[in-house]
Amino acid sequence: MPFVSFKDKKECCGCSACADACPVSCIEMVEDSEFFLYPKVDESRCINCEKCLSVCPVKHFDKTENAINDDDAYAFVSNDTDLIKSSSSGGAFSVIMDAFAGKSDNFTIAGAAFSGTDVVHMCVNNREEAEIFKKSKYVQSFGKTIYKKVKNELENGKQVLFSGTPCMVAALKNYLGKTYDGLTTVDIVCHGVPNQHIFSEYLNELEKINRSKIYSVSFRVKRNFDTEFPNPRTMDVCFENGNKLNMDIEQCEYLYGFHHSLYFRPSCSHCKFSYPKRQGDITLGDYWGIEKINKELQSKKGVSLVRFNTDKGREYLEFLKKSGNVYYTSYSFACDENYQLRKPSQDHRNREKFFKLLRKGYSVIDAVNICKKPDTLPRRIIRKVKKLFM
Ligand SMILES: Cc1cc2nc3c(=O)[nH]c(=O)nc-3n(C[C@H](O)[C@H](O)[C@H](O)COP(=O)(O)OP(=O)(O)OC[C@H]3O[C@@H](n4cnc5c(N)ncnc54)[C@H](O)[C@@H]3O)c2cc1C
Repeated sequence: MPFVSFKDKKECCGCSACADACPVSCIEMVEDSEFFLYPKVDESRCINCEKCLSVCPVKHFDKTENAINDDDAYAFVSNDTDLIKSSSSGGAFSVIMDAFAGKSDNFTIAGAAFSGTDVVHMCVNNREEAEIFKKSKYVQSFGKTIYKKVKNELENGKQVLFSGTPCMVAALKNYLGKTYDGLTTVDIVCHGVPNQHIFSEYLNELEKINRSKIYSVSFRVKRNFDTEFPNPRTMDVCFENGNKLNMDIEQCEYLYGFHHSLYFRPSCSHCKFSYPKRQGDITLGDYWGIEKINKELQSKKGVSLVRFNTDKGREYLEFLKKSGNVYYTSYSFACDENYQLRKPSQDHRNREKFFKLLRKGYSVIDAVNICKKPDTLPRRIIRKVKKLFM
């Protein structure tokens, strides 16, 4: 077929680059029965140019990955405690934004931000506004139009810092089709993305229970930062009536589903990017396990894992050194400690059941609570036996 198509949903990561690339705008992103977005081609308007195929990051993942030339990785924690508290990990991304913005007056920063409670990829032209990109938003960011915007900015001579999941970085590189000196890319380590629909439904359910509209949501809120082991699995919700929910994974069904891979996109469990070879000039993640080799660093408080995949990326090492504690480690050690740098996440045993329950009309809260119940003993035995033969 001369346009983007796939036999299996696992072959589409939902980046939307195909829709951006279509010169006659005949590709729309539409929700399937699990509420994930997939391209839908209006065949009557398609001109068979195959641009949509050429930008697909899943089909061409090996064209965009960087070669690995060394075994270096770094643990980073900012000197600024407020920055660590307001970042997901150790604040490396903010330091990189500072350094990038300091290099030129003519720049754009692109990343994932909340628009209300929707997660969308956006561009901004000054450092202050780029604060919206800080922190992980545990929802697939809507990417349509971002690739076009970034290309325009680069063609207009701007320096661009683009951050996102590895599939989005790969999509951008394919979309651009050539190397731009002015572009720096940051891919974040990612174990999977839920869709906007489920997140919004969950928030609607909270609004009904609390009888008030939600005006802001925040993940990875570092409550009890000064205690020995703050909980990294948290979410805060603020309501218009002044109420606030400070939840952790025990109280928040959405977080349970996210951290147990209950409702990730089908492509996430077959992710072509969950490997040591990376897509961005820089890779950022959580440095889980760093305390095993450096007791001063506590990953639960937030320690960034920083990997430079290109010389352009490596230029940022000096800035990190000026802004915080940089600790050298081998990349092999980082990969051993971080599952997502080695292989994709595995779906929860009840993923199918969860979506069935939603289609039957169950709320997200009820569907998660049903799916998290432990299996009966015979089912557990069957699952273990099946695993042995897989
Ligand atoms: C869905 C998701 C899953 C993740 N899973 C893992 C994991 O399994 N292991 C791991 O080590 N790290 C994971 N991370 C990355 C980690 O949580 C931090 O984002 C990363 O370490 C950067 O932290 P920081 O302190 O440097 O800066 P922060 O300020 O916290 O970083 C913000 C950065 O994340 C980007 N971002 C935020 N939300 C999204 C989104 N929805 N889509 C695309 N980009 C986004 C922003 O554009 C910005 O570049 C995940 C992040 C997300 C969004």
